[in-house]
Amino acid sequence: MQFQPKCFIIIILIALSCRANAQKAFKIVPLGVLGGIFESNLSAYMVAPSGSNNYICMDAGTIREGIGRACYNKVFMVPPDQILKKYIKGYCISHSHLDHISGLIINSPEDSTKNIYALPDCINTIKTHYFTWASWANFANEGEAPALKKYTYKTLSPGAETGLENTEMTVTAFPLSHSNLTSTAFLVQNKGNYLLYLGDTGPDEIEKSHNLQNLWQAIAPLIKAKTLKAIMIEVSFPNEQPDKTLFGHLTPKWLMTEMNTLAGLTGSSDLKGLNIVVTHLKPPYANIVKIKNELKAENHLGLNMVYPVQGRLLEF
Ligand SMILES: [Zn+2]
Ligand SMILES: [Zn+2]
Repeated sequence: MQFQPKCFIIIILIALSCRANAQKAFKIVPLGVLGGIFESNLSAYMVAPSGSNNYICMDAGTIREGIGRACYNKVFMVPPDQILKKYIKGYCISHSHLDHISGLIINSPEDSTKNIYALPDCINTIKTHYFTWASWANFANEGEAPALKKYTYKTLSPGAETGLENTEMTVTAFPLSHSNLTSTAFLVQNKGNYLLYLGDTGPDEIEKSHNLQNLWQAIAPLIKAKTLKAIMIEVSFPNEQPDKTLFGHLTPKWLMTEMNTLAGLTGSSDLKGLNIVVTHLKPPYANIVKIKNELKAENHLGLNMVYPVQGRLLEF
């Protein structure tokens, strides 16, 4: 038999791609990626284990536009309304600011029955301010009568691992300091692999808090064990934003300050190449360019900075 170099190359390519796929633990479909002001591109990220279509949506600022874009990009091969009704099994809402939940509220008449997972303060605000009969309709299971019971509130306890119903994943919530609000970091787990999504947060030093320090302590062992596949974290403003007007957000400088704290717990070599998905960049466009340039210039730890695009699949 004659040696066929072409076949040999194809076999190697298939083997390499299988290996690459085998190492992916999670897929993320960003439905919205910015921190304002475009209402069609606000924080929302569908997360599922690789090989599954049982997604949880991390925040829900923009839903429909993001699903439409993902369908256009052939991320999904089923109609958009099936993504909303069948693929999204629940929502984890980091805090009650409208840029993180308005998509859920607006799409609620078309949605299917599912759970909303959040810390107590956030659930309470949704219950008393959004799913009320004065501001919308009460599609949830508690609050103003009549309750339409499409959504069931699942109140999370900080640090307690909770199953995400109808998915293969669990979530553990950690409180974050976000100006006058408590925001949330969600640590998602599937088969011993982890993904960390942070809602809006200020730096510990400005917020006079230990919340990020506590979070870094909790996840440091996962980084050392190489089971944390990515950290999704906000950078809202460029460095020129004065500390007194951060309003509970991060700049490139403050993100790197926090990453150095994390490096102090893991050793800096463990952070090299770690996937950092940068979320919540606030327009105008000139500021977004500045943020990216500043992060590049200050990335002495060798983090792998990833900028999500609405409707484009990410895998880690
Ligand atoms: Zn926000
Ligand atoms: Zn916020």
